Amino acid sequence: MKCRKCGGAAALELRRHNAAFCSPHFLEFFRKQVREAIRKHRMFTTDEPVMVAVSGGKDSLALWDVLIEDGYRTTGLYLDLGIFDYSVESKAKCEAFAQARGVPLIISRVEEEMGAPVPIIKQVTRRPACSGCGLSKRYLMNRTALEHGFPVVATGHNLDDEAATLFGSVMHWQMDALPRQSPALASTHPKLVRRVKPLYRLSERETAAFAFMRKIDYIVDECPFAKGATSIAHKETLNLMEEASPGAKHNFLFGFLDKARVAFERVDNVELKECTRCGQVTTGELCAFCKLSEHVRGAMTGPVTRGAPGAPRAPHAPDPA
Ligand code: AMP
Ligand code: ZN
Ligand code: ZN
Repeated sequence: MKCRKCGGAAALELRRHNAAFCSPHFLEFFRKQVREAIRKHRMFTTDEPVMVAVSGGKDSLALWDVLIEDGYRTTGLYLDLGIFDYSVESKAKCEAFAQARGVPLIISRVEEEMGAPVPIIKQVTRRPACSGCGLSKRYLMNRTALEHGFPVVATGHNLDDEAATLFGSVMHWQMDALPRQSPALASTHPKLVRRVKPLYRLSERETAAFAFMRKIDYIVDECPFAKGATSIAHKETLNLMEEASPGAKHNFLFGFLDKARVAFERVDNVELKECTRCGQVTTGELCAFCKLSEHVRGAMTGPVTRGAPGAPRAPHAPDPA
């Protein structure tokens, strides 16, 4: 296999592009795809400060690397979810990355903001960990960006993530989620920052190859709560289709974005208000984050600890009656 650009030995074959590249030309291809995403969706300019949400995984650190190299004014945001060793290790990866490159990193702890870390939220709510976790991440990304004066948050969602999310939304015909599936979400309220996904044109395999070639030290382990998640089943299904027909994922996502998404757009007449407790945007009185936080704090200080028998109890919670 030969590099499409220079004819040298190829390091990676990209079947969906019917191409292969040597390492330097793959890095160039990768950066071009990110630039194209930023240009096409007018994600941000070099004059604006950009908050990059980093999980310590390959995607978000690869994204941060590209943006730094391209001269963007970035600050990382790591949300410490308090998920055992997984959080300890992923935080360390982000700190080491930021320090090595001399870029700022903000760390926010879910335990401090919500009143409990993700494993306790899971016990208290008796819901899958991903629901409280996703809610906390979205809320804290927006609020932290606002508090620090960032107009935009960039995440490391890649082509596989986006295709799997779209697949899940279509499987359940989630009419609210479909119009929001986009590489760039505009701000619809002064208290909502823009959200962008500059890696949406690149597959998970490509971000892994980029991180490897750039010697980025990232956390390889998945979140321990992700096991058995439907999003993983959706990714596996799409991978089977991709194997049978290279480009299937790309066609599915890009076809939707280019041709179908507009058909799902609706005029939203819901009035956006500000949460009476935290001032963030909500459609009710209290936002979902504050509601969950009140529930969690109440359960932790209440007379009886809720959750499954043998569940880890909150520190300082009184003994069950
Ligand atoms: P995930 O939802 O884990 O697939 O992650 C998607 C994107 O969300 C990542 O690429 C990051 O940009 C961001 N993200 C996930 N977890 C965190 C975290 N703990 N702190 C900051 N950003 C995160
Ligand atoms: Zn080459
Ligand atoms: Zn609130």
